[in-house]
Amino acid sequence: MLKKLRSFNKGSAAGPTGIRPSYIVSAIQVQNQTSTLEILTDFVNHLAKGLVPSDVQPFIAGAFLVGIGKKDGGIRPIAIGDVFRRLTGKCLAFTILNDANNYFLPSQCVSAPGGAEAVVHSWRSLLMEFEGNADFAGMKIDFVNAFNEVQRSVFLKECHDKFPQIFKWVNFCYSQHSLLFFGSHIISSQSGVQQGDPLGPFLFCLVLQILITKINKELPSLSLNSWYMDDGSLFGNICDVLKAWDIIKLSGPELGLFVNAPKCELILPSGNLDCFTIEADIKRIQGCNMDILGSPVGSKAHCEDWVAQKLLRKVPALFDGFNSLDHLQSSFLLLLFCASFCKIVWNIRTVPPDSISDACHKFDVLVIQELEFLIGCGLPSHSVLQAQLSTKLGGLGLRASKQHSAAAYVSSIFSSKELIDRFLNKDSLILNSHIPDSFAAFNSLVHSDSKLTPGMTPTDQRMLSLAIDKQSLNSTLADLNVLDKARLMSCSMPHANSWIRALPIANNKLSNLEWSIIAKRWLGIAIFEDDHLCSACGKQVMDVFGHHAVVCDCSGDRIKRHNAIRDCLFDSCVAACWAPVKESPFLLAGSSERPADIFIPNFSHGKGLVIDTAVTCPLQRTSLHDSSRVAGFSCNKYADEVKSKPFRARVESEGFDYLPFVVESFGGFSEGAIPFLNKMTSSISTRFSVEKAVCSKSLYDKLSICLMKHVARSISSRFPENF
Ligand SMILES: [Zn+2]
Repeated sequence: MLKKLRSFNKGSAAGPTGIRPSYIVSAIQVQNQTSTLEILTDFVNHLAKGLVPSDVQPFIAGAFLVGIGKKDGGIRPIAIGDVFRRLTGKCLAFTILNDANNYFLPSQCVSAPGGAEAVVHSWRSLLMEFEGNADFAGMKIDFVNAFNEVQRSVFLKECHDKFPQIFKWVNFCYSQHSLLFFGSHIISSQSGVQQGDPLGPFLFCLVLQILITKINKELPSLSLNSWYMDDGSLFGNICDVLKAWDIIKLSGPELGLFVNAPKCELILPSGNLDCFTIEADIKRIQGCNMDILGSPVGSKAHCEDWVAQKLLRKVPALFDGFNSLDHLQSSFLLLLFCASFCKIVWNIRTVPPDSISDACHKFDVLVIQELEFLIGCGLPSHSVLQAQLSTKLGGLGLRASKQHSAAAYVSSIFSSKELIDRFLNKDSLILNSHIPDSFAAFNSLVHSDSKLTPGMTPTDQRMLSLAIDKQSLNSTLADLNVLDKARLMSCSMPHANSWIRALPIANNKLSNLEWSIIAKRWLGIAIFEDDHLCSACGKQVMDVFGHHAVVCDCSGDRIKRHNAIRDCLFDSCVAACWAPVKESPFLLAGSSERPADIFIPNFSHGKGLVIDTAVTCPLQRTSLHDSSRVAGFSCNKYADEVKSKPFRARVESEGFDYLPFVVESFGGFSEGAIPFLNKMTSSISTRFSVEKAVCSKSLYDKLSICLMKHVARSISSRFPENF
């Protein structure tokens, strides 16, 4: 129940009862005498059994409507179902997932992992096999207003017969009309499945399955009869395909399924139009260049052009929208999460790498140009390579689609192979000539240990992409000078990258100047035009990359930074209920020294823990060379020599444990710090009933942003006068 409740999107809106999912999550975090979760579970079970009085059904099963403008001037209604209805639906959908897949496959693949990809790969396989063949044809089927028109009486009967375990709930939701609220208007919901109902797609598929089964029974020799919800794919002998079309036209209406002829397509691999007659308003495709489920299938020229039209042409306007926010951190996050690699990943998974290599290259160029726009200057080539690395390896996570396209394609092919084989009823790989080329393309990008050999069936894109990134990191490092090498090694330390993905909320919000300084320093881009005398100390040279500002001991910047990190850690110790004490005096007998920035009584085995925090820079002369070879050298050396040597034995002799907590100026942590933070997040997670991963991200985000903000400020306060 809790898992399903947490699966709602953050900020998810309230339906007719006015309760948002986040309200219930908050209520669960406050434990009263009866657990909220228990009450909620009882209520959802009650709903699932259809025991709630039918008088409240129009509200619980109703929704608020929001109107979003369509391109053609129409209005697209977005329904916001009630939280209790959505929650019950989610829980029940989960319980029937396996049974539903067994029932629908291979005809319908909406709930099968990789289902949509398998449909695209199947089309490509068939069109390659039957190119130029005048006896075969394919059809794409589309229905008019499919979800709103499907017959309720039909899916209620199907659900009763095939999935009785959820029938009472489905019957409760759909056996009587519910209410849709749109401004001051109230609309009665009388037909179709409701948008926003987690079971909606399933109920639609139940009806569609009747039609598909009929086609399968009468035309068993069709090469393809696969559906992704209301997107139908038919392929086979022309006569069979036409008969299937007739069945859909004839038997669909009694189920509420009406074909939308102008949106249906007839694909003729031979290009011959004269062989038969069919409705004039159906689009004819002569040859094998088509698209299905948002991906192009066909020649390289067609695929390149398709991606250029559907994606590349729209990207500049999207970026303009980001830029108009006038907040660099937010614009960058939108680029990272919504408009870079993720925007094209569906295409590179479903189209062979060769067929869209030019489009990928152009897309990657656009993404880097946008990054340059945000940072405010051109990127040298080593910075471009770094920006394209994953954040785990010190990059900005703006992966180059061209570089990762072979990895994406082969992992998609192998992870959906079983489904493709079931759709086509044969071994689909025999005909796929793109696999050897993709293996070769991938192998040219990775270390010999990670190369793919014939017979391997890699399915995990993350593993393949990581191998590419690692090799890319190594070759980038090999070309760098010692300063940049040490910088990149430090950026790749665990959790150093947290600032990149931190959302600009409360203290984690960075000003434009802060973000741009941090990004430039991270990527090794000059912040100043020339070296100049540091305006704070007046003694040392302020280098163009701003590194001196991090170690300059004037203006109290280092103390402020140290205290900020200590306070951040202290607040988290408080949240963990560890009763921490800041700067505890008299820990060492006969000494006024205060080695404990934070003291935690009773930390482990009856002993208190003395935490000694510090920030060190891996780029300072004394550790630069070693930092360029070993990640984390600087913080660990500082922890050993400056902290442990003078204090550990003395602290331990007083009966306490000692933890030097050293952070590098790029965000890496000394040994022992991360296990300590893990223990802390676990405690906070229990205390506030929040998932560990959420607590952990929040803590690392805070520490990372706090550090970076102070570093940026010490640089900006040292700008030369004529800057
Ligand atoms: Zn200075």
